[in-house]
Amino acid sequence: FQQPPPPPPLDFQHQQPPPQDFQQQQPPLQDFQQQQQPPPYGQQPPQQQPYGQQQQQPYGQQQQQQQQPYGQQQSYGGGPVSRQQPGYGAGPPAAAMGAGPGYGAGPSTGMGTPVHQCGGAVVIPVDRLNPYQNRWVVRVRILTKNMRKYSNAKGEGKLFNIDVADASGDIRMTGFNQEADQHYDNIEVGQCYQISGGTLKQANRQYNKTSHQFEVTLNRSSQIEPITDEEGANSIPRQKFNVVTIDRLEAAQDDSFVDILGIIKETDEAITYTNKNGKEVTKRVMQLVDRSGKGVELTFFGDEANDTRFRPEAVMAIKGAKVSSWNTRSLVAFGGTAFEINPDLPEAHTLMGWWRGTGRQMVPQLISIAGTGSGSGQPAQRIFFSDIDERAFGQNTTPDYFEVSCTITHIKTDKRTLWYIACPNCKKKVQGADEQVLDGQCEKCNKAVTGSRRWIFSALCNDASGCRYVSFFDEMGIKLIGKTADELAPLKEQEPATEFDQYFLQRSFQRCVMRCSAKTDTYNEEQRLKITCASFTPVDFVSESRSMLRDIHQMMR
Ligand SMILES: [Zn+2]
Repeated sequence: FQQPPPPPPLDFQHQQPPPQDFQQQQPPLQDFQQQQQPPPYGQQPPQQQPYGQQQQQPYGQQQQQQQQPYGQQQSYGGGPVSRQQPGYGAGPPAAAMGAGPGYGAGPSTGMGTPVHQCGGAVVIPVDRLNPYQNRWVVRVRILTKNMRKYSNAKGEGKLFNIDVADASGDIRMTGFNQEADQHYDNIEVGQCYQISGGTLKQANRQYNKTSHQFEVTLNRSSQIEPITDEEGANSIPRQKFNVVTIDRLEAAQDDSFVDILGIIKETDEAITYTNKNGKEVTKRVMQLVDRSGKGVELTFFGDEANDTRFRPEAVMAIKGAKVSSWNTRSLVAFGGTAFEINPDLPEAHTLMGWWRGTGRQMVPQLISIAGTGSGSGQPAQRIFFSDIDERAFGQNTTPDYFEVSCTITHIKTDKRTLWYIACPNCKKKVQGADEQVLDGQCEKCNKAVTGSRRWIFSALCNDASGCRYVSFFDEMGIKLIGKTADELAPLKEQEPATEFDQYFLQRSFQRCVMRCSAKTDTYNEEQRLKITCASFTPVDFVSESRSMLRDIHQMMR
């Protein structure tokens, strides 16, 4: 065992932890010239070892060589290259999607054995990129690309990331303003490029999800040239998709990541809005279908949402979409999620054949949560109201969550109030406000505020087994009532309040699927079980019937 030697002095800056300031990541011009300038010829050692042989030396010896002064580095540039070894271009054929090894998992043929020469620099496998080799070329496939803006003390700017891979592994590359303008639009995910020029530094694990120890910062000397199949692109493995069919998403875990291959059945336009943190967000909602006959909603966040290739009847392969149960089982993708549109893959062509044959005429059934789901991230099972007592729901310190299909039979309007006047900031009750004057003092925010009415009522809910009173707070109250408390308040002031009562009667007898929490609390020194509505969805008779049919089939087995 040998202690790893200290890094060579000229590369010292690469060992620094990544600076917080993005702009500092750009190497200053002087440094850049120093790195790119080849050493004077005379300093080359007369007996240079072939690069390929050096790679085969034990780790410790290789490190010893890297300790040598820059100008004498043996691996630099023009040494003879062994062509007897299996060539990079002769590596494994492109792995078929969903079958065979993907990048990083391929057989070792062609890995770690640079043989191509390119303008004095060698084509090397991605997993061999390191800060000690300043001139390098890699031949890679683009896995993801992502652009974002930033602003810091020095002003505003933009940067882009690409995650790239060859058979040996993957690595992240980052380019800033000028490089972003020059390269970003020309790079297509799924295509292959020969990339050279750029500096390497320790990977920033906060943002970088690749397996590489280092990451590349592209600079003005960087070149990104497309390569065709004839030039060896087809020997660079494709992104490996472990495709899950859409029907199987019903049983998928929340917050898990899945690969999907589907047809875009329909898509909204991308919309840009300001989120609650004051940040501009772009998103696009689309519906994907596949040969399972099921459909799922996918929401794509980030600048990629503007991609004009998102259009109906395109095939989309997406890697690592997140499973969500927001309202219904759906998928979410964020900036940097890998996807390909109309990928040239056998599975994609088969899918398109299905679509043209039968799929297009089908009305896909949107998947639902199939008896499981969540309120506050807790698992929720489908139950009957009678199960609450039989299974002692709500007796624990943390709430129990369940889902129930039921009918609202009575909304309790006989209580003195159905709402309270809330602080717009913290939602606490505003002191001194009343039905005539909503102004008052918020004790929590410690300032004068104008409140707004928030629903707080309970409703009797029935299923085949029995009934329960369920509490509705403002968000779920609006879903059940269809209006805000502020909107309905004037009707209650009328004498008699017939219109008001009529409205509540109309909203009764809705069939719905609710997710609820059950917890025991103490009220006037009395223990009582409190059931609160956490999500409220009008019943989908088609999916409800299907799930009942499934239950019947299971009972008959
Ligand atoms: Zn407040």
